[in-house]
Amino acid sequence: AFWVGVSVGGLSSFYSELMKGLGAGSRLWELLEREPELPFNEGAVLNEKNFQGALEFKNVHFAYPARPEVPIFQDFSLSIPSGSVTALVGPSGAGKSTVISLLLRLYDPGSGTISLDGHDIRQLNPVWLRSKIGTVSQEPILFSCSIAENIAYGADDPASVTAAQIEQAAAVANAAAFIQNFPQGFNTVVGEKGVLLSGGQKQRIAIARALLKNPKILLLDEATSALDAENEHLVQQALDRLMEGRTVFIIAHRLSTIKNANMVAVLDRGRIIECGKHEELLLKPDGMYRKLMNKQSFVSA
Ligand code: ATP
Repeated sequence: AFWVGVSVGGLSSFYSELMKGLGAGSRLWELLEREPELPFNEGAVLNEKNFQGALEFKNVHFAYPARPEVPIFQDFSLSIPSGSVTALVGPSGAGKSTVISLLLRLYDPGSGTISLDGHDIRQLNPVWLRSKIGTVSQEPILFSCSIAENIAYGADDPASVTAAQIEQAAAVANAAAFIQNFPQGFNTVVGEKGVLLSGGQKQRIAIARALLKNPKILLLDEATSALDAENEHLVQQALDRLMEGRTVFIIAHRLSTIKNANMVAVLDRGRIIECGKHEELLLKPDGMYRKLMNKQSFVSA
């Protein structure tokens, strides 16, 4: 889905940069084949002091504008409590990534509401909304610039981020050691014109980026393929640190994530059909969850 391709630590930054480049933003919306509901930087901003970061989908119906005849969600309802970890599972193509696109307002529902702390997200300032949401995708995109710049990119104002803040985020993300091993350290250029990083190293840079952003809400698209044992451990530990104290929504592919989640939601044919803890869901003899567990290869690490 679209967001996976562009999401890094901060789609919000991606957007604000893009917006700066594009002027009023109309071009991007053209690219997304839809009209903005709101002028881009308008709408309500919630009081930071009382901000909880609780999300709720209520009776959401949605089809992609390009394929209006194919409903993705039909009466989709899901509550994601503040400060908890909710894991979303479901068959391939069920619409798991689409949930994230809707939360980021890349698209709006045809009917029904998505709310944040009880406020319809369509009433909220999209720039503010995205500043509260961090994303880490399974294939993070790094830009062809220095590692320091790639990490700072997560912050609302990348130019004001200090070297010490970048190093601190990298340390918590278990990335500092490998970065410091490069002769140029944090100034090492990555990508086509620089060093090539392993999947696990890229993920840890994306985690450092998200740590710097420090969002209340975290959307994770878990990697479907296993990393080598060392990377696996370092990435998981970094993710655990990143998730601490936030509202977390994970497209889950790992059994360990599913088992540790406060709640597992099962998506099938456009709606959430089962919701509960892993052990509870397993007890339902004819449940979709049991079937998925038997059929789908979750990464066992
Ligand atoms: P997977 O587990 O395979 O990643 P998913 O559950 O995340 O799948 P989505 O990526 O949300 O599923 O896609 C749900 C459906 O919507 C799929 O049939 C997909 O082809 C379709 N779809 C995704 N993005 C678009 C788009 N931009 N326009 C039209 N259809 C789309």
